[in-house]
Amino acid sequence: MSAIVLSGTEVAAAVRAEVAERVAALSAVGTSVGLATVLVGDDPASQVYVRGKHKAAVAAGMLSFDRHLPGSATQADVEELIRTLNADPAVDGMIVQLPLPDGFDGNQAVAMVDPAKDADGLHPYNLGLMVLDRPGPRPATPSGIMRILSHYGLATAGKTAVIVGRSFLVGRPLALILGAKGVDATVTQTHSRTPDLAAVTRRADILVVAIGRPRMIGAEHVKPGATVIDVGVNRTDEGLVGDVDYEPVAEIAGAITPVPGGVGPMTIASLLANTVAAAERKPAP
Ligand code: NAP
Repeated sequence: MSAIVLSGTEVAAAVRAEVAERVAALSAVGTSVGLATVLVGDDPASQVYVRGKHKAAVAAGMLSFDRHLPGSATQADVEELIRTLNADPAVDGMIVQLPLPDGFDGNQAVAMVDPAKDADGLHPYNLGLMVLDRPGPRPATPSGIMRILSHYGLATAGKTAVIVGRSFLVGRPLALILGAKGVDATVTQTHSRTPDLAAVTRRADILVVAIGRPRMIGAEHVKPGATVIDVGVNRTDEGLVGDVDYEPVAEIAGAITPVPGGVGPMTIASLLANTVAAAERKPAP
């Protein structure tokens, strides 16, 4: 194996330590930092994700507000809860755990969150700021990927980046961020209708894969020496695997994120960073 392993676990620990310092600095001047989650229904994976977010928030010194509605709740109940959290001065960051159960409108729920408290960076207003290249909370997973690249000193300017996937959560915002002024990658976005995917991905200096198909990207998709970022999280009989076929790709890539321990831990770290940034913007008590 020749690739450098990009440890999201290590980078996330560094980000979480920075966040904890910023929380402590606010606390020293009497300002608390609070993260709230809105969970609807009893999907076990969502419950695990939410627990992880609260554990990380508490470890960073934040207050943590865990709001859980039963699957029998209505869209109006969800929106009422979000309004209550919007009005609560102790809540600086809020996450609506997606996907909501069938019958709920997740996009509408996210749009109800006060954009100033948008820990996920997915509110339409904040997505608009990103398009305009203006400051604001950025979507958590793409932010985490950017932080991995900068932590390991992997330059983006002048590089060819190929992103596989165009979801609003990962692929599309990441394409905007990688192509933004100052980041300056030349970005190609691919998806399920892209003909001859391997011919496109083999041009990538930086290849980001966010598909949700176990080990779909093999060595034939990768240029020797490329940086490969695997966003996929797929539960299989062999445990969690990414969208990249790790062993053969690691033989030829220059750097690669593992699954688990790659992009996953960065998403939570980015949520915490968005939350402490929101608290820093509020007036001192
Ligand atoms: P998504 O909304 O399902 O989007 C998947 C994207 O992959 C779509 O744009 C789809 O194309 C594309 N795609 C599907 N099959 C393809 C193929 N054969 N060739 C090329 N493109 C293909 O998924 P997502 O929310 O972006 O998540 C993707 C993966 O990342 C999942 O495994 C998810 O669990 C994981 N994830 C991980 C984190 C983390 O923190 N590590 C965060 C978010 C997501 P079309 O648009 O044409 O359908």
